[in-house]
Amino acid sequence: MNLILATNNRNKLREIREILADTDITVISQREAGFDFDVEENGTTFAENAQIKAQAIRAAAEQKGESCYVLADDSGLAVDALNGEPGVYSHRWAGENAADADRIAKLLSAMEHVPEGQRGAHFSCAMCLIEPDGTRHLFEGRVEGSILHAPRGENGFGYDPVFAYEGRSFAEIPAEEKNAVSHRHNALMQVLAFFRGR
Ligand code: IMP
Repeated sequence: MNLILATNNRNKLREIREILADTDITVISQREAGFDFDVEENGTTFAENAQIKAQAIRAAAEQKGESCYVLADDSGLAVDALNGEPGVYSHRWAGENAADADRIAKLLSAMEHVPEGQRGAHFSCAMCLIEPDGTRHLFEGRVEGSILHAPRGENGFGYDPVFAYEGRSFAEIPAEEKNAVSHRHNALMQVLAFFRGR
């Protein structure tokens, strides 16, 4: 079964492909499907933004007369001591053209005086699946951890080097280990359960 993934984020694409590798789902990126544009994410929740992205690609596919499954992932980091920030603004938090290093620097600076024991955080991932007949489904996954005092590790992307999970950062553990416990994995398992229940 073919699934168009509504994202231009190559790290999300890679992780979703890795997590779905042993299934009968073939993930086609929105660019590969011919939809080479960015969608404005102006929702106030992960779920809203996932719906906005999925619907935009679905509308573009309909215009071309294509009927297909579309999946979108909206995700980010919510830090307890920052009242859930950066949350839905995880990507734009340090400015539109900022790099991962800028986002991490901003986070570490905001957390500078937050003591151990109060550095809890979680990643959230909302996925919106649109079926060929237009029916929408929402799935949400999360993973709990805490914020380190300095980046550690070279793997992963985004805030992974400062997100501690069971003693190591998400950037220190191999991709297979992150992909077995991540917010994205947890949301995708629900998508798979949905397909298997059909
Ligand atoms: P968006 O879903 O495109 O709005 O971007 C989400 C942003 O959240 C990414 O650019 C990353 O900064 C961050 N993020 C989402 N998922 C992860 C993850 O698995 N690891 C690290 N950072 C993530």
